[in-house]
Amino acid sequence: MAKILLAEDDDSVRAFVKRALELDGHSVTAAEDGALALEILEDTSDGFDLLLSDIKMPVMDGIALALNVAKTFPDLPILLMTGYADQRERAHGLDQLVRDIVPKPFTLAEIRAAVTRVLAPFPAEIAC
Ligand SMILES: [Mg+2]
Repeated sequence: MAKILLAEDDDSVRAFVKRALELDGHSVTAAEDGALALEILEDTSDGFDLLLSDIKMPVMDGIALALNVAKTFPDLPILLMTGYADQRERAHGLDQLVRDIVPKPFTLAEIRAAVTRVLAPFPAEIAC
């Protein structure tokens, strides 16, 4: 089980992702904007295991959030999601900071799998 901070401005997507991850036993704290997510992160003393953030959000977007978080919490893995190809391009500039970018729309199984991959202690391809 992991403690996940979720930032997503779309109510239905936020509820969908929260429910999907709770099915895997994760504890999910949801925020409707990047600025709010950053506030929650700074106020939480025992921290989170993963930040999962949408890119397009009204006040602070996922890119600005990722840049802030990477500075203040360099050990926190960041997973972004977006339905926009141009936003994906912007995020690729952050390859060092962001573990992966999940394209929208995704299924319940896809978002669960993406999160499981990031939380896995070692890359799956280590086989020998
Ligand atoms: Mg959005």
